[in-house]
Amino acid sequence: MKPAPFQYHRAVSVDDAVTALATLPDAKLIAGGQSLIPLMNFRMSRPQTLVDISHLDNLASVTLSDGVLVLGALLPHQRLCEDALIREQVPVLAEAAQHIGHWAIRTRGTLGGSLAHADPAAELPAAMVALDAEFVLRSVRGTRTVAARDFYLGFLTTDLAADEMLTEVRIPVPPQGWYGFAEVARRAGDFALAGAYVQVRDDGGGSVTWFGISGGPERREFESVPEDAAALWRELLADVDVTDDDDYRRHLGVLVADWAYRRAQGEAQR
Ligand SMILES: Cc1cc2nc3c(=O)[nH]c(=O)nc-3n(C[C@H](O)[C@H](O)[C@H](O)COP(=O)(O)OP(=O)(O)OC[C@H]3O[C@@H](n4cnc5c(N)ncnc54)[C@H](O)[C@@H]3O)c2cc1C
Repeated sequence: MKPAPFQYHRAVSVDDAVTALATLPDAKLIAGGQSLIPLMNFRMSRPQTLVDISHLDNLASVTLSDGVLVLGALLPHQRLCEDALIREQVPVLAEAAQHIGHWAIRTRGTLGGSLAHADPAAELPAAMVALDAEFVLRSVRGTRTVAARDFYLGFLTTDLAADEMLTEVRIPVPPQGWYGFAEVARRAGDFALAGAYVQVRDDGGGSVTWFGISGGPERREFESVPEDAAALWRELLADVDVTDDDDYRRHLGVLVADWAYRRAQGEAQR
């Protein structure tokens, strides 16, 4: 399939991009195009104008300042896997990013594109919820910051307004406690059937953040993990509105949480 006709605007700066979003008819940003182009090819998305931000190099940086790791929205997924600062400060993010599609997709797809697209089975939105990240959103109306936990509203739905652009992601570092990650997919490179991040703090408490099992990231807190950890994951999953094949998804949810928990424990014992 070919996309419906559209106008093309190549943004030269963030200001130019947000002005184009606010003024050009039915405008939509395009970054790596790895989610938007397939949707346009199937005519499930028919924007009248594409605002291309893929050339804004200054949005592909990684910096550490005052205990905050700042990631530019245009960082390709492969950079998340390889960047030395990311691997040192939030190794769980580098590990999870390796599970996104295949190398060709990871070199074009961007952090901001994945976070804004909000596929419920995507690794990165849940990572940001698990890591207490904040998103910086720009528009002609100004700049605002939103916690990742408040950004995801449901299936492919976020707090991002039509005229807003996600410019950077801020992750507090070092993360509190240790993190483990696990996912199940049919084949390497496929979207996950279920995945989880588990955080374990020094006091034994922590959090689990699931993805792939419902309309968006699902984070739950715990005070301690009993010997029968699976019972805890089952209990925390009880109020999750699981997408389909209820018993199977819940079973996978317990499995991935258990694996992620064991990996977090392994990190803690290093
Ligand atoms: C075969 C295949 C397998 C894949 N497997 C996985 C997988 O396993 N896990 C996974 O997570 N993803 C997977 N993906 C999706 C991939 O990660 C995409 O790169 C990502 O979801 C979107 O990033 P993008 O830069 O390509 O965004 P685009 O496709 O350019 O845009 C996606 C959406 O985000 C908006 N957008 C883009 N950038 C911004 C911004 N800075 N601010 C606001 N809005 C913005 C666009 O307007 C659009 O609505 C796969 C894709 C393919 C084609």
